[in-house]
Amino acid sequence: MAGSFDEDRFKSFSVSFSGALLRPGDDGYEEARRVHNGLIDKRPALIARCRGTADIVAALAFARETELEISVRGGGHNVGGRAVIDGGGMIDLSLMKAIQVDPQVQMARAEGGVTWGEFNEATAVHGLATTGGFVSTTGIAGLTLGGGIGWLMGKYGLAADNLVSVELVTASGDILRVSEDTHPDLFWALRGAGANFGVAASFEFRLHPLDQVTGGLVAHPIDAAGQVLRFYREFTAAAPDELEVNGALVHAPDGSGMRLAAIAVCHCGSPEQAEADLKPLLEFGSPVMVQVGPMPYPQVNTLFDDAYPRGALNYWKSSFMREPDDSAIDTMVDRFASCPSIMSGLFLEHWHGAAVRVGASDTAVPHREAGSNFLVTSVWTDPAATDENVAWTRQTFAALEPHFAQRRYLNYLDADDVGDAVQAAYGPNFARLAEVKRRYDPDNLFRLNVNVEPARS
Ligand SMILES: Cc1cc2nc3c(=O)[nH]c(=O)nc-3n(C[C@H](O)[C@H](O)[C@H](O)COP(=O)(O)OP(=O)(O)OC[C@H]3O[C@@H](n4cnc5c(N)ncnc54)[C@H](O)[C@@H]3O)c2cc1C
Repeated sequence: MAGSFDEDRFKSFSVSFSGALLRPGDDGYEEARRVHNGLIDKRPALIARCRGTADIVAALAFARETELEISVRGGGHNVGGRAVIDGGGMIDLSLMKAIQVDPQVQMARAEGGVTWGEFNEATAVHGLATTGGFVSTTGIAGLTLGGGIGWLMGKYGLAADNLVSVELVTASGDILRVSEDTHPDLFWALRGAGANFGVAASFEFRLHPLDQVTGGLVAHPIDAAGQVLRFYREFTAAAPDELEVNGALVHAPDGSGMRLAAIAVCHCGSPEQAEADLKPLLEFGSPVMVQVGPMPYPQVNTLFDDAYPRGALNYWKSSFMREPDDSAIDTMVDRFASCPSIMSGLFLEHWHGAAVRVGASDTAVPHREAGSNFLVTSVWTDPAATDENVAWTRQTFAALEPHFAQRRYLNYLDADDVGDAVQAAYGPNFARLAEVKRRYDPDNLFRLNVNVEPARS
């Protein structure tokens, strides 16, 4: 494909494009084609690094004229590598970094290349925040369009629940300001299946007053893993909206390979409420490490960044659980004993509070039941260890399968999660999504995502 465009067309496109156009061999091409997951090694024929909405419109017009398949890149964190394409055109928003905060009305508008770390810093200076991811390096775009879970979800809902409007460039090149008032069906679909309907140039979020949180980690010896995960079950059953809890089997961050059973927390209520709510955690068992305390919200969002270095090799699997019962917990402990990489972990993420008080069909995110999402993050650096790590991840996922609900969180689906996994991500909203897709993208131009095919008319 590379170099196969009509050069005259390419020339007139490049005149109208204010960002950078990179083709194989150009300076910066190799870096720009790389995404977070080092396993992804795709070579676009063209990377259109947009500087604004007009560039997105121009890039889409060029793709339509030349019948170039496209992918869209926000933060580039999708483990399945859906942001990048072999042989086609990558519409890359990572240079689009503008953020405007209006503290009077507690809203922020941010462009599609912004990461949560950048967003949080910009809102924190006004004492405001909204739900973003657990780490700071993910893109606001893909994470929000797929739902968006993180430390503040119990109190403020998912990232998508805080969305007020989106500036969207559609498959036909129209620029729409999409909100509940202007395009209710499309706005509904963008909040959970949003990568299917266009390129989101910018996002407007509702913000909430928030300065300090109480957050961090309590780690126990791996011998106590069964008790720690049972404690997670009891602790989360009583957790108020302000308290987000992850239970984890992980390795010490010092590279020693020591296995740990950990509880990570963020409490966004008052210091007095946090002290009372975190008391059972701080009094439980005999931890080897207790690092929990008050900190600015942007800081809690960076605590686990180092565990996910850019370029490391990743393979992930996740599913909601019916309940982390004793048998599921024992299976997790057993499987973790054979984990081949000191960068990998098993997690239980607590969904509760505001995130599950929204109806299953009020947005395109159907997962509105309180409970735990089970996640295996396999991360390693040696390409020779890939088969071993992928096999362990699959075996671990299969071992836990009897405990799963038939529901999967879209943002964690890996490249091989297709068919039933896609159905399990969209659940009862699938048919309505296919109908919205037919109206806004009948030719399925936007298909490098967890794809909803257009309904047949
Ligand atoms: C280390 C790590 C931590 C994570 N933590 C969390 C977490 O805490 N909570 C959570 O919910 N998820 C989390 N995820 C999953 C993450 O939400 C998804 O990978 C998400 O797709 C990332 O968004 P992105 O913009 O960075 O990704 P990209 O790879 O750029 O894009 C992901 C998908 O969205 C599409 N897309 C991107 N930008 C746009 C746009 N502007 N318009 C239209 N479509 C677009 C892409 O085409 C692609 O299909 C994590 C992933 C990693 C690797």
